[in-house]
Amino acid sequence: MSSTRDAVLAANAAYAESFGAKAELPLPPARRIAILTCMDARLDPAKYAGLSEGDAHVIRNAGGRASDDAIRSLVISYKLLGTAEWFVIHHTDCGMEFFTDEAIRGLLASSLETAALGPDGFYDVGRGPGSAEGAYIDWLTIADQQGSVVDDVRRIRSHPLVPDTIPVYGFLYDVRSGRLTEVKEATAVGRAA
Ligand SMILES: [Zn+2]
Repeated sequence: MSSTRDAVLAANAAYAESFGAKAELPLPPARRIAILTCMDARLDPAKYAGLSEGDAHVIRNAGGRASDDAIRSLVISYKLLGTAEWFVIHHTDCGMEFFTDEAIRGLLASSLETAALGPDGFYDVGRGPGSAEGAYIDWLTIADQQGSVVDDVRRIRSHPLVPDTIPVYGFLYDVRSGRLTEVKEATAVGRAA
């Protein structure tokens, strides 16, 4: 038995106990916004953007990147559920800055155990075998914090399934202060027509 699993279930029981009016929430997000952000455990979009249940779509992946799957969710978000403004929010000290496609492919090829992070980046401490499957994935790593926000806003803005009426804003979240800073170049690229 996992005590972590028990703790999650105990927390859920307490949450459901006081669920109250949330049972009546409609499906479309009340504030008509969608946020694409990183899965980093230090980021809590509900807290940093002041959201409650029912307010917004939050799409998360490693880096908060505009992957094909993130775009799939954004298209559903506006086309079926009416969101009208989108935020792309990357952050400082993102793990996606600490490796390259080549590096993670090499790590996975040698071992499937968790790697260690040292001053020179990630390195394997586990046993093999690994797998060459990592070579077939585009890991969407980040070489430039501001640049990746601009790139992702641009990709969303220019996607054929995204209407030009939805503004796409670009931001960086600072993990040391909790503050959002606008990436002005990204927001300019993401302007609605
Ligand atoms: Zn991150």
